[in-house]
Amino acid sequence: MTQAQSRADGMAVGGFVRHGAIALAPVCLVVAVFAVLLAALPSPPALAAANDLPEASAARLAGDQKRTRFVMDLDRSVAFRIFALPDPYRIIVDLPELNFTDETVSTEARGLVTAFRYGRFAPGKSRVVLDADGPVKIDKAFVLEPIEDQPARLVIDLVPTGRKQFMRDLALAPPRPLEPADQPQVPTIPVNPVPPGGAQGQKPLVVIDPGHGGVDPGAIGRDGTLEKEIVLEVAQRLAEELRALGKYRVKMTRDDDRFLRLGERVDFARANRASLFISLHADAIRYSSISGATVYTRSDRASDAAAQLLAERENRADLIAGVDLTEETDEVAGILFDLVRRETRNFSATFARGLIDEMRGKVKLIKNPLRSARFRVLSAPDVPSVLVELGYLTNRREEKTMRTQAWQQKMVGAITTAVDGYFGRNFAASTVQ
Ligand SMILES: [Zn+2]
Repeated sequence: MTQAQSRADGMAVGGFVRHGAIALAPVCLVVAVFAVLLAALPSPPALAAANDLPEASAARLAGDQKRTRFVMDLDRSVAFRIFALPDPYRIIVDLPELNFTDETVSTEARGLVTAFRYGRFAPGKSRVVLDADGPVKIDKAFVLEPIEDQPARLVIDLVPTGRKQFMRDLALAPPRPLEPADQPQVPTIPVNPVPPGGAQGQKPLVVIDPGHGGVDPGAIGRDGTLEKEIVLEVAQRLAEELRALGKYRVKMTRDDDRFLRLGERVDFARANRASLFISLHADAIRYSSISGATVYTRSDRASDAAAQLLAERENRADLIAGVDLTEETDEVAGILFDLVRRETRNFSATFARGLIDEMRGKVKLIKNPLRSARFRVLSAPDVPSVLVELGYLTNRREEKTMRTQAWQQKMVGAITTAVDGYFGRNFAASTVQ
């Protein structure tokens, strides 16, 4: 018996090691599984680097409609937790923070899985999300220990089930501990109009919000550009440009590849008493010929059907990351609230119009570039907010253009001038001298 085999406790079966016989078989449906393999972990080197995270690579699917297997290679065993969510049906695997060495998303469909993605989810935590084409049962879920030249492997087997059974299993599953990203949003921030020119004694604060991130890649370009990456690049340039003016404070909701709930982005702007909130995105649609930028504001009734659909897509960001959506209270009632909100929406519209004016002639715009819909990320009642779709990643030419420094600089220049114009024109009197 080789050393590796003995380590695997004699479970090698024709070169394939199964953990199945012990605690993990048959993995109880949707019930959370804790594969506590920590005892088997080699003790960490005394001076492990801070970034000595377990490495994950080569995620793939195998099998068919009767049984679909997800496999991901790991450089060591890790503990994990798995559960399912309905509407849309998806399987969530929570892992410790991992270093993902290749692409964070796969649109490859196979068997019961229509797509999968992975990435950072919350501090110290990574997440894999498998989209299922219908109700599925987690038949097996385990981590194989490394053996000889084989890496450790996370293996998940899914089999089809019915909606009724799926919901029953879900109801029977023990409650999952709430994670930071799952916490229902409690509206603790009082609605308090920020003086448009900035809070007393301070320069106005502009919050830049690069959309998506971590486990949620956003739209995916024809040539593989990820929305979460391109919007972060543009956001960083924009922050730099705005800071260079010396007239504004600038904060970003995220400055790296991390997942944030939509509600967290809104709360961030509100808690910091931002004077302006700019969310950056890049769209994808079926029609590859469409290109150009669009500026969106929030309204309860969408300006058009396309804007409505886009808002629905963007509002799914939390869902895509596998966040359990406890009905978020988007709205607070009250007369003060209504007044503040109306005023805020006027400011948002003013900024949006100015932004379109600045973009025109510098970057390509779509027809009717000023649109509105019910975007969750624009729901702060007291922070003027706009969402910019920089362009269409589904248009090959535009995808390529958006990656160039020249285009990014032009776009950033237009937004910067619009921000400066907005504060200069409207609030010269109220800004701090
Ligand atoms: Zn987006």
